[in-house]
Amino acid sequence: MANQDLKRRIHVLGTGGTIAGAQSDSRHLGYTAATYGIDWLLNAVPGLHDLAILTGEQLVNIGSQDMDDRIWLQLARRVDELLSTPAVDAVLITHGTDTLEETAYFLSLVIASPKPVVLVGSMRPATALGADGPANIYNGVALATDARAAGRGTLLCLDGEIHRPRHVTKAGTMSSNAFCSSPAGLAGVVLAGRVEWFEVAGAARAHCFSIAGRDELPRVDIIYAYPGMSADLIDSLVAAGTRGLVIAGVGAGNINRSAIARLSAAVANGIPVVRSSRVARPMVFRNAEVNDDHHGFVAARDLNPGKSRVLLQLALTVSTDAGRIQEYFERC
Ligand code: ASP
Repeated sequence: MANQDLKRRIHVLGTGGTIAGAQSDSRHLGYTAATYGIDWLLNAVPGLHDLAILTGEQLVNIGSQDMDDRIWLQLARRVDELLSTPAVDAVLITHGTDTLEETAYFLSLVIASPKPVVLVGSMRPATALGADGPANIYNGVALATDARAAGRGTLLCLDGEIHRPRHVTKAGTMSSNAFCSSPAGLAGVVLAGRVEWFEVAGAARAHCFSIAGRDELPRVDIIYAYPGMSADLIDSLVAAGTRGLVIAGVGAGNINRSAIARLSAAVANGIPVVRSSRVARPMVFRNAEVNDDHHGFVAARDLNPGKSRVLLQLALTVSTDAGRIQEYFERC
């Protein structure tokens, strides 16, 4: 057990999710996410308080399908506030897994502090046989206390694996090993609280945006491409007031000819368009099959549609210029 004076102080923010979920019977499939509060979750992990001095706070208690821009801004402000005091060495966030990658990526783009921010979730509810939440919280706290985690930006810790927000995606709906950072790879692993890094320190991307004074983000929508896709979808979103569009394109961010023409018209009307891909491991380069220079499109590179949307929302708080937005997609 670490000496109390040497222990790091970790503040844990609870937001809900399956990690806080309960079943009426552990033999049943059905459960309700976001049932238990953060103190209950922390007290359910054996030995956790030996790792660090922990304080808990319930920010919201929701299934992460109900996460939205307003809560992201609230969460980021609270994280900033906590990390700016010497009384907190790192923040751990418990979160649902459905939109975990978007929240993590959002935080990585707006939090400037070098202190660790670690997000954890679980695939099985707290009452399940073989619940994965306690181990993920234990390893997440161990990661947050690791001196080598500082300066690496926001991290995710699930099933003994350390992921970076830009690279991670939820790739499955069943096993506890649902998160994948292929092809970029894991940042490291954690086993029973022991952290092993695969990456050299200081590999974090610079934080890119300030959210000072903001209580909402520009509306950005995603359009999922498919054979025979109707371009009417684009017109409907433009009419509804969208400020930017992300295409979950087929293959390397492709879309049919009529959709390209409508998207090109949207760009001419001041609505930036980002080409991402619906494939499991996206990589969309500029000017491959689509002439991005000609249409004024932005290529999402390795960012999937969900995270492209987050980045475009933040980029739009600065500029609508495609060249400037493309730079953010390269750098952030
Ligand atoms: N729907 C849940 C959520 O995202 C799923 C989970 O946490 O695994 O909150």
